[in-house]
Amino acid sequence: RPSGSGFVPLPAGSGASDRGLLCIHHEYTNDDLMFPDYPPDDPASFYTREIVDISMAAHGGSIIEVARTADGRWQVVRDSEYNRRLTPLATEMTLSGPAAGHPRLRTGEDPAGRRVIGTVNNCAGGITPWGTWLMSEENFNFYFVGENADPAETENHKRLGVPGSRSYPWGYFHKRFNIAAEPREPNRYGWVVEVDPLDPASTPVKRTALGRFKHEGCENALTGDGRLAVYMGDDEADEYLYKFVTAAKASGNRRENASLLDEGTLYVARFEEDGTGAWIPLVYGENGLDEANGFSSQADILIETRRAADLLRATPLDRPEDVTPNDATGKVYVALTNSKERTETDAVNPRSRNLWGQIVEIEPQDGDHASTAFTWNLIVRCGDPAFPAIGAEWHPDTGENGWFACPDNFTADAKGRLWVATDQGSGWNAASGSADGLYALATAGDKRGTARQIFRAPIGAEVCGPCFTPDGTTLFVAVQHPGADGTKNFKAFERASTFEGVHKQP
Ligand code: CA
Ligand code: CA
Ligand code: CA
Repeated sequence: RPSGSGFVPLPAGSGASDRGLLCIHHEYTNDDLMFPDYPPDDPASFYTREIVDISMAAHGGSIIEVARTADGRWQVVRDSEYNRRLTPLATEMTLSGPAAGHPRLRTGEDPAGRRVIGTVNNCAGGITPWGTWLMSEENFNFYFVGENADPAETENHKRLGVPGSRSYPWGYFHKRFNIAAEPREPNRYGWVVEVDPLDPASTPVKRTALGRFKHEGCENALTGDGRLAVYMGDDEADEYLYKFVTAAKASGNRRENASLLDEGTLYVARFEEDGTGAWIPLVYGENGLDEANGFSSQADILIETRRAADLLRATPLDRPEDVTPNDATGKVYVALTNSKERTETDAVNPRSRNLWGQIVEIEPQDGDHASTAFTWNLIVRCGDPAFPAIGAEWHPDTGENGWFACPDNFTADAKGRLWVATDQGSGWNAASGSADGLYALATAGDKRGTARQIFRAPIGAEVCGPCFTPDGTTLFVAVQHPGADGTKNFKAFERASTFEGVHKQP
């Protein structure tokens, strides 16, 4: 299940567009589609340690070398020294930053709180200017089962939905995923992981300074003075938008950036009704983030980022997915994908029962990603413009196949256009009535707000991880989970997809 993706040119630092490393997330598995003898009516009977290990080995991420052949086609370089799998079954990672080693990150298997096996549910990610890959951990709660044995973590787990309502049964075979046995193991997920694809022997690092929530996206840009700003969504209804700015400048020597992401300031966004906004720092001892509210260190704030952001009156949003800085315009785009349960509205979340989503355009003050002030507007309100009751807003040149619903992943091109991948989930029939796809959206000039369809995926799939080669001539997209979402609603099909069905196609 490829999801987020990124392209790192080879040779390292070259900016080449004919050879490079594709970094691809494997967000989750659809075990019913993956295993031919999966019994949909009695899944519990199906799992063995072997099946669980296969499921774990299919999560995480891959680094693969790809190169253009003489005829211009891309091929995987199968014997590349860079090819690598990262899994929650077998890839050792370290924890770094202010929460590393904290008692709340210590477990029976890791009494020091500094070592974790693997990463899970990695959604949209990002590539840093020095060519490392940032993997986001999103719905990590799905991988935990059991009854929490540590009352001090009850509220923390509840805020993040641990254990998950649609849990994978890993915890019945690997006790670290059972919170009756290891109640602090969930605190070791929900982070951003930095991986060096250019060093296949390197150990990935979970950067706790960037906070713990259901991370979606880690796209980034340099500030006016050369530090790195990383933009991040927390993808759940009424959660928040975050930004992390490093304390030090990024170096041209990539080795010197090895711990750059361990020190800096994490901010959460507040959107005012008048189109202004502010980034509020999540810093221990400031704004009530102290003992009086149950935070006794920066580590506590990072482990319970959502609760800290609640206290700062951050603005709840319609499921913040990917966020991308647009280098051509200096603006930042935020995908608010939908919020089906919304009843009360405000300027940034203007529609109740929002099935379609909207895209926020943020203009940092002075064009500097380090600024704590910004202005904002909604560049488009998604959905079908032919039905006024939906309240969609597009440039009128947007054609009947140009508009879309449920923006999810972004990339921006050198001309400043925003490329939008959509994910309507199983709600596709109500949101747009057609399959997910990839769209180009004009962000400037008199066509601003005009969308065009570029690519469409099969029903049941979502499109994600769009990324260009540096010269803009190749666009990679990941088509995730064909057959998974609502194929019963597709008139020409009208049944669930099955492993058998796929293999019986002529
Ligand atoms: Ca998401
Ligand atoms: Ca997503
Ligand atoms: Ca999504």
